[in-house]
Amino acid sequence: MTNLRKSDPEIADAIQNEINRQEFGVELIASENNVTPAVLEAMGSVMTNKYAEGYPGRRYYGGCEFVDDAERLARNRAKELFGCTRANVQPHSGTQANMAAFFALCDPGDTVMGLSLAHGGHLSHGHPLNFSGRFFNIIPYEVDPEHHRIDMDQVRDLAKKHTPKMIMVGASAYPRTIDFKTFGEIADEVGAKLVADIAHIAGLVAVGLHPSPIPYAAYTTTTTHKTLRGPRGGMILTDKKHYKALQTNVFPGIQGGPLMHVIAAKAVAFREALQPEFKTYQEQVLANAQALSAAFLAQGFDLVSGGTDNHLMLVDLRPKKLKGQQFEDSLHRAGITVNKNAIPFDPEPPMVASGVRVGTPAVTTRGFKEPEMKQIADWFARVAEAPDCEETAAKIKAEVEELCRKFPLYPGMEA
Ligand SMILES: *Cc1c(COP(=O)(O)O)cnc(C)c1O
Repeated sequence: MTNLRKSDPEIADAIQNEINRQEFGVELIASENNVTPAVLEAMGSVMTNKYAEGYPGRRYYGGCEFVDDAERLARNRAKELFGCTRANVQPHSGTQANMAAFFALCDPGDTVMGLSLAHGGHLSHGHPLNFSGRFFNIIPYEVDPEHHRIDMDQVRDLAKKHTPKMIMVGASAYPRTIDFKTFGEIADEVGAKLVADIAHIAGLVAVGLHPSPIPYAAYTTTTTHKTLRGPRGGMILTDKKHYKALQTNVFPGIQGGPLMHVIAAKAVAFREALQPEFKTYQEQVLANAQALSAAFLAQGFDLVSGGTDNHLMLVDLRPKKLKGQQFEDSLHRAGITVNKNAIPFDPEPPMVASGVRVGTPAVTTRGFKEPEMKQIADWFARVAEAPDCEETAAKIKAEVEELCRKFPLYPGMEA
């Protein structure tokens, strides 16, 4: 990035520091991943210059023929990847994708069910400070206190009692398989539409390692930057019947001009996800999650629901007498990045939290396998033993860096 270095050394420094942070740290935030250089190139391209309000072939601006090509490729690849007949690749983020689905199906004031944020749901499924909680009457459902699985009896009872217009299913911190089929049946029973938000698990769904909601949901929303390993953004998958309402509710409903450089990068990522290596990658994400959860249990950590079916786990820190915030900070000093996370029925406030969320997508991208998972659990145990010890943190940080050097992410990259 020689031009940037010359014209804006301060931002070049910030980017260089971020390259180093990603290169030499262990990234366990479950919602993050590392895109390929090809995705980065498409994102950093001149398509950022183009206004293209509207959709391919029906734009409000001239000169859209080449961004049309990119958007058509992105849509077609998305449809192939997820086995559906319609796709909108314009949402700027996962939250925007959900917003479009809400407005396509509901009017302000309508009743909507969603998984409680405190039990693994997402802000955009009805948090009172989010648009979803401000515009709609939200009935939250929860996981059951014993097994920490979504309580399907409660979902059915609440649906019958409140007859929502829409049921939202999907999660940000839920380590177990989601039963989209039963959600679809419940929605049918009460005359609701189902919206499935697969933001976290999209990569697994794409390769058939998690059941797909496509047959049951009016809209399937997702981010493109988590397990799917594309650029930061959103997308909505649907069928012919629900397409028109979707199109108008994305644009002009909630957005203006689409981010054509990001859409081009989405197309690149979807092409990558259609290759056989992407399935191998997702299989390793799951194998690593199994290895890591077993290693955590062996080190005396508790896991919400006792383990995981997907790419993430929630570590319950109460047996270690630690808080989520504290442990996040301690791990950070040791070069390991996680996020504090509430556990179901958490006695602590969200800013403190009793757990941390840990995911394997990013470390799997750089090539970590089962032996490295054991190493990570070992580091966690040492940090948990001495959460305030600077010496332990410095020692582990050096070990982390040494391991990361063996698994380079972006060789030769410089800002
Ligand atoms: C991450 C996530 C989103 C939102 O994504 P943003 O791009 O951050 O807006 C939506 N839903 C779920 C379930 C998520 O995990």
